[in-house]
Amino acid sequence: MTRHPNFSAGPAKLPDEVLQQAQLELMDFAGTGMSIMEVSHRSAGFLEVADQAVSDFRSLMAIPDNYSVLYMQGGATHQFSCVPWNLLGASKKADYIDTGIWSQKAIKEARRIEGGDIHVAASVNESGLLRVPGNSDLLIRADSAYLHYTPNETISGLEFNYIPDTDGVPLVADMSSSILSRGVDVSKFGIIYAGAQKNIGPAGITWVIIRNDLLNQAVTRIPALMNYKNILSQDSMLNTPPTYALYLCGLVFKWLKKRGGVEAIEKVNRQKSELIYGVIDQNDFYANAIEPSDRSKMNVTFSLADQSLESKFIEESEKLGLYNLKGHRAVGGIRASIYNASSLESVQALSTFMNDFAKKYG
Ligand SMILES: *Cc1c(COP(=O)(O)O)cnc(C)c1O
Repeated sequence: MTRHPNFSAGPAKLPDEVLQQAQLELMDFAGTGMSIMEVSHRSAGFLEVADQAVSDFRSLMAIPDNYSVLYMQGGATHQFSCVPWNLLGASKKADYIDTGIWSQKAIKEARRIEGGDIHVAASVNESGLLRVPGNSDLLIRADSAYLHYTPNETISGLEFNYIPDTDGVPLVADMSSSILSRGVDVSKFGIIYAGAQKNIGPAGITWVIIRNDLLNQAVTRIPALMNYKNILSQDSMLNTPPTYALYLCGLVFKWLKKRGGVEAIEKVNRQKSELIYGVIDQNDFYANAIEPSDRSKMNVTFSLADQSLESKFIEESEKLGLYNLKGHRAVGGIRASIYNASSLESVQALSTFMNDFAKKYG
């Protein structure tokens, strides 16, 4: 069996150890003679798995006691709707930072709320290197229910290197592609949400962290399955949760804890991204379109000076077993997604290939 280096943007690579553990337990979980997939979500055995996952997530992220953690289905895209439905019950105003495709999708969904007043606090620059708007560029209305932003734009590879200071307006972050990749001070946020399939686990489960005082401002007649307060009152089991996805997230959390947690993985992640950006910067053959201070550590995007070589680049990389390097269909180019489960060795293999390829065709 060969496990290839896999640079997929999502669903993304899972740690080998996690898949092995899942394989080992697939037919018979903890001596029950049943798969964890085949038991009730209300059984004692499953509840233990669920509680452990939530508590490991809380400790990995150092989530303060005045925050609740829940999991849902529907992906981050569903949260684009849940956030405004849960927060716009009183003030109808919300501000959004537009840094790219994922921010724009969130804005579009927020604008469906009847009577909502959705304002763009700042947009990404249109010309030159892509840059994250500075804190002083943000037009945040003091009476807004929240400010929403996307700390890491997965498609373009643009990442905030600061947490916006909102002067008391609750901050909401779509952390789908950067959660658990580096330490964050959760107390600076009102809500953090993340689809699992980049840095946490398989597709099908979304994690939400919410400050408890924000649980009482939902729009009236919010659907039950979108209502955070309602879901929390049932410990995220208002209906059947994605049990197997949750179990796998739990294994990933254990794996990450064993590796030293977020602080340890952050160091490796920095090394990994520096390695690839180093190759890009040393070769005129490659170019990256992001202001260096705002380059993503999870999704490294680049283009080839001679675009006609891109398909050759993909073809030759695959011959070496380096997979899923094609950029998002909306922007083209090359994208190496190097989430927590991507090893330093696989990124080293990629950087060697990039240097060799530049020598060969440059
Ligand atoms: C992948 C991604 C999404 C969409 O996630 P789904 O689970 O497919 O809805 C949203 N936001 C960001 C930042 C992403 O990376």
